Amino acid sequence: MATLDLFSAEPDGVPGQLPPAHARVVALRELLHAYGHAYYVLDAPTVPDAEYDRLFKELQALEALHPEWASPDSPTQRVGGQVLDGFASVRHAVPMLSIRTETDTESTGAQAFDARVRKELELSDEAAPVEYVAELKFDGLAMSLRYEGGVLVQAATRGDGEFGEDVTQNIRTIGQIPLRIGTGAATATAPAATPAVPAVLEVRGEVYMRRDHFEALNERQRARIAAGEKGEKTFVNPRNAAAGAVRQLDPQIAAQRPLSFFAYGLGEVSPPADGGPQPDTLFSTHFAMLQTLKLWGFPVAEHVDIARGASELIAFHQRIGARRDALPFDIDGVVYKVNSLALQQRLGFVTREPRWAVAHKYPAQEQLTTVLAIDVQVGRTGKLTPVAKLAPVFVGGVTVTNATLHNEDEARRKDVRLGDTVVVRRAGDVIPEVVSVLPDKRLPDAQPFTMPRVCPVCQSAAVREEGEADYRCTGGLFCGAQRKQAILHFAQRRAVEVEGLGDKLVEQLVDANVIRNLPDLYRLGLSALASLDRMADKSAQNIVDALEKSKQTTLPRFVFGLGIRHVGEATAKELARHFGTLDGIMGASEEALLGVADVGPIVASSIRTFFDQPHNREVVEQLRACGLTWPEGAPSDAGPKPLAGQTLVITGTLPTLGRDAAKDLIEAAGGKVSGSVSKKTHYVVAGTEAGSKLEKARELGVAVIDEAGLRALLS
Ligand code: NAD
Repeated sequence: MATLDLFSAEPDGVPGQLPPAHARVVALRELLHAYGHAYYVLDAPTVPDAEYDRLFKELQALEALHPEWASPDSPTQRVGGQVLDGFASVRHAVPMLSIRTETDTESTGAQAFDARVRKELELSDEAAPVEYVAELKFDGLAMSLRYEGGVLVQAATRGDGEFGEDVTQNIRTIGQIPLRIGTGAATATAPAATPAVPAVLEVRGEVYMRRDHFEALNERQRARIAAGEKGEKTFVNPRNAAAGAVRQLDPQIAAQRPLSFFAYGLGEVSPPADGGPQPDTLFSTHFAMLQTLKLWGFPVAEHVDIARGASELIAFHQRIGARRDALPFDIDGVVYKVNSLALQQRLGFVTREPRWAVAHKYPAQEQLTTVLAIDVQVGRTGKLTPVAKLAPVFVGGVTVTNATLHNEDEARRKDVRLGDTVVVRRAGDVIPEVVSVLPDKRLPDAQPFTMPRVCPVCQSAAVREEGEADYRCTGGLFCGAQRKQAILHFAQRRAVEVEGLGDKLVEQLVDANVIRNLPDLYRLGLSALASLDRMADKSAQNIVDALEKSKQTTLPRFVFGLGIRHVGEATAKELARHFGTLDGIMGASEEALLGVADVGPIVASSIRTFFDQPHNREVVEQLRACGLTWPEGAPSDAGPKPLAGQTLVITGTLPTLGRDAAKDLIEAAGGKVSGSVSKKTHYVVAGTEAGSKLEKARELGVAVIDEAGLRALLS
């Protein structure tokens, strides 16, 4: 049975005399009514769906245990919200229902539904699998479109299922919704067998907002807010933006909100005027109905499958789950529907949902948690980033304990405070973020967050320059945090690559003051390394070897590794290509730098500023003195290309060159590096522990060379 946890603090007005379970039922109903009102009526949810669903399930479970407490106005017995003032109310000829939700694991949700259907239909274990249609569950709002004589005459929201709102004016602004069907362009390409459009046709579907349109809308809203326009706000998610647009009293505003539509069902249908087929003989399956809707000119989602039995439903759930984040719109699950319309009729309805359909949700991408601390982290360039430390919460498939608050403005806009209950979102690979705060749950003495004016690591002043969003520590490489990040940046695989030099080791080296700047890294002796805590002799030797190996690098890797602000890998490559030598880059004027592809005024000024600092030039000189080298060439592409048109394969460990460094050298010489050996391979460059690729090369008679051989080719 469900337990009292997060919400054991009951809302006001719970009768104290009731037994605890009954009091909980009353409290849950009130809470769900309040959340439902915010969600359905105001289009401004106050808690994540997962939280609503959790409480809804708890209420369902308690009501099932205690049928004597049943109440017709319980949220478990009703659909959605009411009609908003300002819209005419529309009575649905055929009610618009909800769908039972399964949130369980991949398999049990589909199995439970299939088992219920088979039981209701009294099918024996031997009977053939039931045929279903599996569709996406779009996260938008349900709409009923009424066509009379093929003309759109009314569009209505679901409302409470029986009465909805007349939003025809707003819906007419959605380009994807045909205003007329059965004649004209929409069906001009339809095959001759397309059924005639019934005299009355209600098409049911979902109005939604694509994610890119949602982002663009919020971008515009932010600009409006910044320009001081009154009453403007940003939207929490595409669903709320879509619902807000549809229920916008001013159709002109609605027209500026980019909405889309998918059809997935029918409401009232009457026979066509010309005496064509009766509605119940128009099609015999849900799938055929969807195909006909498409022929009539309605958008129908392409991800619709026929699935036989629970196993094929599970496969669909898995397939769509893997692609969920790549879809251009939000879904919160998939929907399974019995395909045969005759069987649908036999199964019928319970209070608020059909027995022939179920929604099978995916793990929530938004959850509630609490803020345990707000830390300020210092990055490589000194940027201070406030980060919310969270009570661990499972969201979007992983356990999240941190969420960035980006910068002072963002932290202030969201007004996240210590102890707050917050909505955390994690979708796809996107880093987790705090979406909003629940003001009702704020502790009375919670203080607003302020950005520290000194660096939390080195105590140097932190400043925010005009026009910048970020505070930066002014400590430069005096700041331990920046030093650590700068060293890690230089040593990473995409820069000079010092294998095995990870963040724990760098932290130890910097904290013990063994390393104060980049060149110190190359002055590290075996004994200094071996004397560190938890450092075995063998590991110390490996680091010394890796450092030695990293000295043979390439110009782009070295320039990227310096960590000049705004100079990423691509820019470093362009700089190297354009100038050919490090001295060329270091001596280039801003004007000369502007001549490099990809370099604009901000990047040019950042490069110039970096090399104008004597201590940065000093670091470069010392690194060179420590033995870091790279091939230099003539400016631009004019350099020799000794390997032009040749394909090489690298295998095993080369004595001094890392795999990536070797690849860069080959590519700079015009060659191509391939991952597999074939007859077309010109050379296999083999180091120690070369395996099957070396064998293959010998088999095919491909030339095999070592690192020295490669260097000879390059020169
Ligand atoms: P529902 O939204 O879960 O399911 C029914 C709806 O699914 C239909 O009305 C239709 O609009 C939609 N749908 C999407 N794709 C469909 C398809 N292919 N076929 C048929 N229908 C499709 O049901 P509900 O009863 O409206 O509401 C429950 C949902 O609303 C839950 O997800 C709940 O979390 C959320 N909710 C959240 C809050 C909150 O405070 N966050 C409050 C109330 C409700």
